[in-house]
Amino acid sequence: MKLSEMTYWQTEKYFQEHDTVILTVGCLESHGSHNVLGVDTLIPDKLVSMIEERVAVAAAPGIPYGVCEDMTGFPGTISIGEDCMYLLLTRITEGLISHGAKKILFLNGHGGNISTINRVCIELSRKGALGVILNWWIMAGQLNSAWAGGHGGGEETAAMMAVNPKLVYSGEMRGQELINDLGEKFPTMGFDRVEYKGIGIPVPRDVVKYTTNGWIGPDDPKDATENWGKEMLNEVADYIASFIRDFDMA
Ligand SMILES: [Zn+2]
Repeated sequence: MKLSEMTYWQTEKYFQEHDTVILTVGCLESHGSHNVLGVDTLIPDKLVSMIEERVAVAAAPGIPYGVCEDMTGFPGTISIGEDCMYLLLTRITEGLISHGAKKILFLNGHGGNISTINRVCIELSRKGALGVILNWWIMAGQLNSAWAGGHGGGEETAAMMAVNPKLVYSGEMRGQELINDLGEKFPTMGFDRVEYKGIGIPVPRDVVKYTTNGWIGPDDPKDATENWGKEMLNEVADYIASFIRDFDMA
């Protein structure tokens, strides 16, 4: 049930029978040359619609922007920063709690949001409520290790094929094309990290300095299929629906 499509009296009744609300948190950022900017928002939105078919839960309007300072070198990527995200989540959750919510499930699509959501969850626990972080892509990799992936790779691309295959530009797929911007002694390993004597050392910097398109592996988007995406999103939705059934009013 979308909160935006419920009346105030339906909401009042909902909170007499439930104490759980789900809120999606996404991002607008580059995910490789073959993916659209909204990957981290569109996948959680799809999951929520699948979860709503499985279990009675109120879904608050989600946040389509995220914390992605390091990606803003790519056209269209917009970061609202940790400060703005913190305020948004705090005010939204305070409102939800005032109307009867005690458990907020953050269905998250973007790694850069995790530390801010984590901070909000701790504060929720001090207000007599609870926050739960559901990072769908990490959960998918735990449900089936063959699904685990990085940024804009096979996992997210497969999920996007399940959301809407027209939004995946398979003909535009490029290699990972990592650039050793700190020199050959410190080759780029992936997000943030450079390798030195076999160990990955984080050196946070703008992603455009070390990749050409924003896909960062290990999973290759060329392996993505619509079937993979559908099976994966179905299992994640089943899992979250089951979690809500047991967690709501518990
Ligand atoms: Zn993503």
